[in-house]
Amino acid sequence: MREKQQVNIIGSGVIGLTTAVLLSKNGYKVSIYTEKLAQNTTSAVAAAIWFPYNAEPKEKVSKWSAFSYNYYQELANTPNSGVKFVPLTIIEKDIKDCWWLDAIPNKNYKKINDTDLPKDCKLGFEILVPFIESAVFLTFLENELKKFEGKIMHQKINTFDDLDKTIPIVNCSGLGAIELCNDAELFPVKGQIVTVAKQTNIQSVILNYPVNKTGEELSYIVVRNNDIVLGGTAINNDFNTEPNANISQKIINRCKKIAPNIKDTTIIQEKVGLRPKRTSIRLEKESAIIHNYGHGGAGFTVSWGCANAVLKLLMKKE
Ligand SMILES: Cc1cc2nc3c(=O)[nH]c(=O)nc-3n(C[C@H](O)[C@H](O)[C@H](O)COP(=O)(O)OP(=O)(O)OC[C@H]3O[C@@H](n4cnc5c(N)ncnc54)[C@H](O)[C@@H]3O)c2cc1C
Repeated sequence: MREKQQVNIIGSGVIGLTTAVLLSKNGYKVSIYTEKLAQNTTSAVAAAIWFPYNAEPKEKVSKWSAFSYNYYQELANTPNSGVKFVPLTIIEKDIKDCWWLDAIPNKNYKKINDTDLPKDCKLGFEILVPFIESAVFLTFLENELKKFEGKIMHQKINTFDDLDKTIPIVNCSGLGAIELCNDAELFPVKGQIVTVAKQTNIQSVILNYPVNKTGEELSYIVVRNNDIVLGGTAINNDFNTEPNANISQKIINRCKKIAPNIKDTTIIQEKVGLRPKRTSIRLEKESAIIHNYGHGGAGFTVSWGCANAVLKLLMKKE
């Protein structure tokens, strides 16, 4: 029997773990080296909904998102994956901004009648999307990796020289690549969310445009199994991960505008995460290293498509 080829992955967020699982399923022996374990990463802060938001380049993001959408369809039938399909309302300003419609397989969406739109909204779609309960999904991925005898080493990589360069390395370090790759193109986009109690008759809604001039204020509602996530913010180049009570209140007020039927807005939790944003997701080979980072606000949405692109780059080498 041919010995499995070893691959070392840096990072244990959604990108590192999905890459690790997909490579393992395709016959590779994977070890992850990670500074933070999955539940302490940005990925654990996300709600998360499949939606191509704040990630570039659009054409590739659309392709990777479509691949992931199909992959999540399989996972929705897998017990304990934390994945299911839910209806999502997307509100837009202009049909020109709806490039993401191309990413939905089989045109599985419908335009919402004007009379059914939230107040002051003019264009909307209802789509069936993968909803990924992030904490459950990340644990599921860790367990999948274990089934393939993959390893997770809780260890920071200070330089790529810390790892054996004769073994392929996949760099899924998210924002960590600022330091690791000295990447000046990578920056944080800070997102704050609040969680409130689960209530009946509330559906997930994304207002897919910023509601203020600076583009820092967003409005979205994600209904999860045990609570509701209200978001959010998108503040470039802010590394501060302390939640701000004033911002939480503004988020609640904005969400109540699009969903006045939210009654209980008692805050259960406030959280901040830093989206690893780049002018363009870095997915390329550089000698022994395949980079896979900079997925901005769409890490869960593009993850499986990007993992598949990494697989193709690895196989090309052989
Ligand atoms: C509030 C919020 C809501 C979001 N909602 C959604 C959503 O609904 N849908 C969606 O698709 N996306 C969403 N996102 C975006 C998504 O969370 C990110 O795109 C995704 O988490 C990025 O994943 P990652 O694995 O690249 O990074 P991370 O989750 O940050 O993981 C990076 C990993 O690399 C490790 N690492 C870094 N440097 C080193 C080093 N030198 N050595 C070893 N390990 C290292 C870290 O410890 C960590 O384990 C949201 C983000 C936020 C903040």
